[in-house]
Amino acid sequence: MLVSDLNHFLDLPQDTPGPARRLAEHLSNIIRAATAGDVGTAWESALPCRRRPANRRCPGRMIVARTEAGAPIRWHCSVCDDEGVISNWEDSAFDLRRRQLILAEAASEIVIPHEVAAALRDLQLLDTDCERLVFRIRAHNDHAILAATDNDLDELIGFVAAEANSEPNRRRQQRLDAVFDTLNTPARTPGG
Ligand SMILES: [Zn+2]
Repeated sequence: MLVSDLNHFLDLPQDTPGPARRLAEHLSNIIRAATAGDVGTAWESALPCRRRPANRRCPGRMIVARTEAGAPIRWHCSVCDDEGVISNWEDSAFDLRRRQLILAEAASEIVIPHEVAAALRDLQLLDTDCERLVFRIRAHNDHAILAATDNDLDELIGFVAAEANSEPNRRRQQRLDAVFDTLNTPARTPGG
């Protein structure tokens, strides 16, 4: 069980070694997912497991659970025994809880490959609403499911297009173009 306190991995110095930096990123993504998703119930996010048993990536996804503020976020892998808790996540930069109630609109469920979900998590320019959409993405069998209203999807596509246009690296630009195409011609299932 990995017991962590967000305060210990905020503002890591520039010379922090790679493994510590990757762990901090992993834990901050878990906070984003847990606070973007529903409270009180454990659910399987699209976040991949960090473990590499026998040099092969564990195929598991992070199952996250958040109860009330003041209680740690709990997480565990859907496949291996990796698990932990994170405390002091409240009101951090990774806390994506809604600050106000909004009217629920009908969302569609859009099936996307895990690579597209990963590219969405790497977007640098997202606003909080879109970040919440991206970190609410669930794992389902071999793919990921994005639940979004038409308006949400339009906004997200706008961010992807903006970032693709300003991306100087050709390979990353092609990755973003592929995301753009996937979101523009989504395989939808009616959701609720
Ligand atoms: Zn695992």
